[in-house]
Amino acid sequence: MLGNLKPQAPDKILALMGEFKADPRQGKIDLGVGVYKDADGHTPIMRAVKKAEQRMLETETTKTYSALAGEPDFQKAMGELILGAGYNPALTAALATVGGTGAIRQALELARMASPDLRVFVSDPTWPNHVSIMNFMGLPVQTYRYFNDATRGVDFEGMKADLAGAKKGDVVLLHGCCHNPTGANLTLEQWAEVADILERTGATPLVDLAYQGFGDGLEEDAAGTRLIASRIPEVLIAASCSKNFGIYRERTGCLLAQCKDTATKDLAQGAMAFLNRQTYSFPPFHGAKIVATVLNTPELRADWMAELEEVRGGMLRLREQLANELAQLSGSDRFAFIAQHRGMFSRLGAKPEVVQKIKDEFAIYMVGDSRLNIAGLNDTTVPILARAIIEAGV
Ligand code: PMP
Repeated sequence: MLGNLKPQAPDKILALMGEFKADPRQGKIDLGVGVYKDADGHTPIMRAVKKAEQRMLETETTKTYSALAGEPDFQKAMGELILGAGYNPALTAALATVGGTGAIRQALELARMASPDLRVFVSDPTWPNHVSIMNFMGLPVQTYRYFNDATRGVDFEGMKADLAGAKKGDVVLLHGCCHNPTGANLTLEQWAEVADILERTGATPLVDLAYQGFGDGLEEDAAGTRLIASRIPEVLIAASCSKNFGIYRERTGCLLAQCKDTATKDLAQGAMAFLNRQTYSFPPFHGAKIVATVLNTPELRADWMAELEEVRGGMLRLREQLANELAQLSGSDRFAFIAQHRGMFSRLGAKPEVVQKIKDEFAIYMVGDSRLNIAGLNDTTVPILARAIIEAGV
């Protein structure tokens, strides 16, 4: 039986990680996978996370099953973190999931249960796993224009024109902040225009919020999502705690479904719990408990926010350093977009052969579409990267 399987193409980003590991060159630089790293290349456990785990170790008395949709303290803390004052638990179904990826998968499963003919609109480009999951599920995917190759900003006119083709029963996937892979994001005014289009078309937004706190700040990064939720009665939000809590391997995520009335909320809540039961039954507990403990304990929350600000500020400084270095070397401002982008990533806009050249000649690894992970840099490697970018002819 198993011999009938077809070989699967390895995930490109994970394959790149393997290639980097195997590269014997001294001074190689990994700007590939989307993991935050400090100046020493280490992905630390956040202080508040460690303290929350210590408390859990001391106070937990059982490892019996928890709740199918996740613990209420986690659901509520996530609802408030994401939607702020606009969070209405009476109208918002919530589900603990296996990371942000699990939240996306369950959101798509939920949407398909409710709308068997749905199409999913995704930005071109988007996180490759979005499209991969949709293809695997057999969902029709429509792309909308998003990135302007010349300006390295958002092609908003193209985006609006393409989103106008969505209709009731379709899902429009939007990156809440820190767009992956481009780093180019909507302004709040543009979010309002997207809300106008969603209102007109009746399509359902699915906001992927994987980097809240990595762009302009916790509140600022949720502003687009909150605007959509304030304008559109039915909204799906798939959030990841992997990055902003640094708990990648704990696999912690949350799906919120804001509904138009309590009867629909009850339906959604029941369907979401059902989906967990069918997929993996109970969601992982440990990471969700860490998040709930941090968010619900004032001193841990304050410390987490402070450390997240350090992380965010560090990435912004690296962006500015790289943009400045490139301005000097190129004698132009054509790389200013790097300082304007937000989040961990920027798409350089280099051709695949140039990305390959940078890897071959300088041992600098970025994703083939020229996405680089800003957090993979430090004071020493910024000038090395800048020189490589110029010498490779980006
Ligand atoms: N959405 C986007 C845009 C991402 O970049 C990621 C992680 N790379 C995720 C969702 C999922 O994150 P995770 O499953 O690790 O929580």
